[in-house]
Amino acid sequence: MTDRLLVCCDLDRTLIPNGPQPLSDLAMPLFRRLAERPEVTLAYVTGRSRQLVERAIVRWDLPVPDVVAGDVGSSIYAVGPAQDWTTWDAWEAIICKDWNGRRNREMCAALAGMPGLALQGEDRQTRYKLSYTAPADTDAAALADAIETRLAPLGVAAEVVWSVDETVPIGLVDVLPKSATKQGAVEFIRSEMGFPAERTAFAGDSGNDLPVLAGPLRAILVANATEAVRAEATRLAATNGKTGDLYLARGGWRGMNGCYAAGVLEGLAYFYPEVEEWLA
Ligand SMILES: [Mg+2]
Repeated sequence: MTDRLLVCCDLDRTLIPNGPQPLSDLAMPLFRRLAERPEVTLAYVTGRSRQLVERAIVRWDLPVPDVVAGDVGSSIYAVGPAQDWTTWDAWEAIICKDWNGRRNREMCAALAGMPGLALQGEDRQTRYKLSYTAPADTDAAALADAIETRLAPLGVAAEVVWSVDETVPIGLVDVLPKSATKQGAVEFIRSEMGFPAERTAFAGDSGNDLPVLAGPLRAILVANATEAVRAEATRLAATNGKTGDLYLARGGWRGMNGCYAAGVLEGLAYFYPEVEEWLA
């Protein structure tokens, strides 16, 4: 099949309509129809753990994906049609090197006492992801520098991912192996499954999606993203000399508002005209 398409989607406030904007009635039925197409491979790329992804699939009646990159990219699973989840061990073998043999517990000890950081609950921690909260007005760049400076002497290459939960609002800080970001996970899934770059699209809405939105692949920012994220994605894409397009969903496609699944579909129809036919 030459017209195969890899659709990579963030979940919260991208595919899952859990923000203040309404979801257009047609959006999820159309998205489910897209996911059923034999050409489409669907990957969820999310901060959620496996358990929270499974819960979301039930709660929001999401299509069962083919692949899940969970925990902000630090774990990847193949998901069969019977919802049997299999870890991609090859991914863990790559990312574990960045932490120089350390796992969550040793990394927590290394970061103990960092000002402003509060460790999130046990259920938010995984082997290769530390999750903290911080005040929403934190200088995120300075915090990332401080964390990386603390870890560098240990031979640890870490990536600090900052995002703001606008609904509270509170800052969310994830510390990951350097290569275990959403960006790294999407690239790994793409190459392992043999999709060319131009047959791969990513959709997102917020901070930890920015590297992928502004990276080399085709990307879609849903219309419910904040103005600040829209501006930052546009700026970063220009700075990076982005080779794939960045599509900013604005609504209007099939009379929908461009938010959540409607925005994902609007962007996919922009990049891939055949999507219109598939959904006819
Ligand atoms: Mg999101």
